[in-house]
Amino acid sequence: MAKRNFVKIEPDECKGCKVCVHACPKECLHIGSDINKIGYQYAKFEDKGCTACGLCFYVCPELGAITVYKNEEEEKEK
Ligand code: SF4
Ligand code: SF4
Repeated sequence: MAKRNFVKIEPDECKGCKVCVHACPKECLHIGSDINKIGYQYAKFEDKGCTACGLCFYVCPELGAITVYKNEEEEKEK
């Protein structure tokens, strides 16, 4: 699989505050319609040219909600 930049969101750590959505210069993040364990609609990543700039990670108030991968192979979801 090709290497690329991507972001993983941990659904149950996200509070759906949208701060990352507004921070991403590439508009890669949006709030989905799925609801997590604590009742929030959480952020989802869609690659629209993610540069792995890390802005979403730095602005997110929830530790562990966002991980940024720079030029890495994405593991298949099990
Ligand atoms: S790392 Fe940068 S470009 Fe990628 S999703 Fe986060 S804010 Fe957007
Ligand atoms: S900034 Fe963090 S808590 Fe807020 S919507 Fe994005 S991932 Fe969720």
